[in-house]
Amino acid sequence: MKIELTKGDITKIKADAIVNAANSSLLGGGGVDGAIHRAGGPQILEECKEIRNRQGKCKTGEAVETTAGNLSAKYVIHTVGPIWNNDEEKCSKLLANCYKNSLKLAESLDVKTIVFPNISTGVYRFPKELAAKIAIEEIRNFESKIVEKVIFVCFDEENEEIYKKLLDSN
Ligand code: ADP
Repeated sequence: MKIELTKGDITKIKADAIVNAANSSLLGGGGVDGAIHRAGGPQILEECKEIRNRQGKCKTGEAVETTAGNLSAKYVIHTVGPIWNNDEEKCSKLLANCYKNSLKLAESLDVKTIVFPNISTGVYRFPKELAAKIAIEEIRNFESKIVEKVIFVCFDEENEEIYKKLLDSN
């Protein structure tokens, strides 16, 4: 899979699937979640509510999909990142699961291009450098015959610098 890095608002990126850093309620929140629901319109929340009614809350590290409403993408993949609590081992595993499960779901949906935000590095306070290392490692280790391109979108300069450094270093 090809890996690209870009900076900006995820709702403006062209990709088959946009990944949302959701919370377990799936009922919307701030940050990137708020931006996706605002730009995508009410249909996404309606579908999230249906998922809730069907299967309850989304567990940390898992992923579910909806259509993308007014966004140009085909799908929004909602994954729930861990809230950083200093348990590095457990939080790292859960964050890795977010990337892995989102990619697995993307494959099952025949997604060719997917864009990820920097999951958990906002209000969930996951250390940015560690989060980036995990994200890049999971993507590099995931072998896919379906997904062709993964885009990391950074919203803040700090994350962009970290990703640049890590992606350039090998
Ligand atoms: P979490 O609760 O998983 O920490 P946040 O939405 O608070 O989720 O933050 C996750 C990351 O998304 C942060 O790095 C934040 O800067 C970034 N972010 C916020 N808004 C957007 C946006 N519109 N597009 C892309 N990334 C965004």
